Amino acid sequence: MADKNSIAMQLPAFHSRMNYLHDPALNKGTAFTEEERDKLGLRGLLPPGINTMEEQVLRVMGNYNRKTTDLEKYIFLVALQDRNQTLFYRVLTDHLAEMMPIIYTPTVGLACQEFVHIFRRPKGIFVSDKNKGRFSEILQNWPNKEVRVIVITDGERILGLGDLGVAGMGIPVGKLSLYTACAGIHPSWCLPVTIDVGTNNVELQKDPLYFGMRHQRIRGEEYDDLIEEFITAVQENFPNTLIQFEDFGNINAFRLLNKYRNRICAFNDDMQGTASVALAGLYAAMRMIGQKITDQKILFLGAGEAGTGIGDLIVSAMMNEGLSQTEARQRCWFVDSRGLVVKSRKNLPEHKLRYAHDFKDHPYFLDAVKALKPTAIIGVSGQPGTFTQPILEEMARCNERPIVFALSNPTPRSECTAKEAYVWTHGRAIFASGSPFEPFTLEGITYEPGQGNNAYIFPGVGLGVIACRAKHVTDEMFLAAAQTLAAEVTEDDFKRGSIYPPLGHIREISAKIATAVCEVAYEQGLAVNPRPDDLSAFIKSQMYEPNYRNYV
Ligand code: NAD
Repeated sequence: MADKNSIAMQLPAFHSRMNYLHDPALNKGTAFTEEERDKLGLRGLLPPGINTMEEQVLRVMGNYNRKTTDLEKYIFLVALQDRNQTLFYRVLTDHLAEMMPIIYTPTVGLACQEFVHIFRRPKGIFVSDKNKGRFSEILQNWPNKEVRVIVITDGERILGLGDLGVAGMGIPVGKLSLYTACAGIHPSWCLPVTIDVGTNNVELQKDPLYFGMRHQRIRGEEYDDLIEEFITAVQENFPNTLIQFEDFGNINAFRLLNKYRNRICAFNDDMQGTASVALAGLYAAMRMIGQKITDQKILFLGAGEAGTGIGDLIVSAMMNEGLSQTEARQRCWFVDSRGLVVKSRKNLPEHKLRYAHDFKDHPYFLDAVKALKPTAIIGVSGQPGTFTQPILEEMARCNERPIVFALSNPTPRSECTAKEAYVWTHGRAIFASGSPFEPFTLEGITYEPGQGNNAYIFPGVGLGVIACRAKHVTDEMFLAAAQTLAAEVTEDDFKRGSIYPPLGHIREISAKIATAVCEVAYEQGLAVNPRPDDLSAFIKSQMYEPNYRNYV
């Protein structure tokens, strides 16, 4: 028999005790009470004083504000998440508007670019072609057995920054933090995943610190097999889990969504979440100027995942208001890197083909604006500065209130700045951006431009899908989400020039979106869980609050 004083005997007890301090899901730091310190064997392992969570938040904010760059703030917050998950979510939930640009766009973009240099601790699951055939085994290594939502990327199109390979992991991690902060989805239910299939980013491949697969991206059947293996492994290990495809290149994104959307519970946020938040902005703009969505002519700069995703949902919204599909599509026009998408263009992919109208070719966006006289322009090209002064002046010439959405992320990729949009349209633009812009004053009026942030939509949609255990995620759910979000915009928001509500209201908004999504799931016969008597109260009761548990 082992001696009870031997190291072998002591280790398990010591480790389980230290878990309370080192496991971020268990740790309360200096907030462990006297009774807990005795019960858990922590006495003397912490300073004698006991802090309330409010005091800990003060300490965190003091340290946070001392950081001089956004990247340092990001690293600090991630380190807090690694140490004390509850405190991290308390701080994030209570300072969401301030911290959203740090844990998400634009700073998360920089964090992904620097990922291999600032890396401290791994988060989530990494699968790669190196482990082909072992994905199910890898998922079994994940310590939480109750996974309800997975955000997966292959790192090929990170924000507007392109191929970042395995360094794209910052995006699933950031998005899942928003699921918890914005919609109260329990952190232990969230699993970030990167599927590393190589990178075509030469700089990364040359970086000695890069820790992803260094070969060129796998394509074709071999790629599809890897994704299929992952999806199957998820079904085996975590059935009924919502899978969010995130930042896949459009060479794969459209195909994967079409392949899986009616087979499993999955959606693509770059297409469907973006579409919903942009449509919500458009609905709110209609309320602001007293017009109908069916009267709009929308010209997109960029015909990729975001652009055609938004177009498709706008078409559904217009059809809801009485237009035929052909009439609705006729109101959506696209310019891509080769100019206006028109019928005479050869070899257009499927997602552009439906918007290829019978019209003269126009290689330049300005010419297309002059020829089409759109009521709204939506930038989703990832190309900064492309909404130029002549373009915005032309929009202001044709429209009393030109609608200008410059949605490319991160901020330096925006098609124009908020200031440019207001100045070049003499303050008449209804402006929204993808990444945040500072408030701006023109001729005595202060504008607080709204951010068409997907975080208004996907956490609430996810909460709804999880609450009723929807089998699939449908376009009607995103339509309902857009309507719900637009209804939350107040006259006060309009007065400050915003077509989105303040981010500080996001938890209530997410609960309402979740309720609307569940209603659609019940209507469409897609909900597995029986309908609770009070759906809205049930959803609120499901939301995680970042408060410490009591161990005694
Ligand atoms: P994508 O690669 O699928 O599409 C980009 C499109 O832009 C392509 O059609 C391409 O042809 C076109 N393009 C490239 N250069 C152009 C040019 N000079 N002129 C005209 N068109 C050009 O990418 P995506 O997923 O559609 O994302 C595009 C941008 O939208 C990114 O910057 C992304 O961050 C942003 N986005 C914003 C939000 C949001 O604000 N809520 C959500 C999703 C994506």
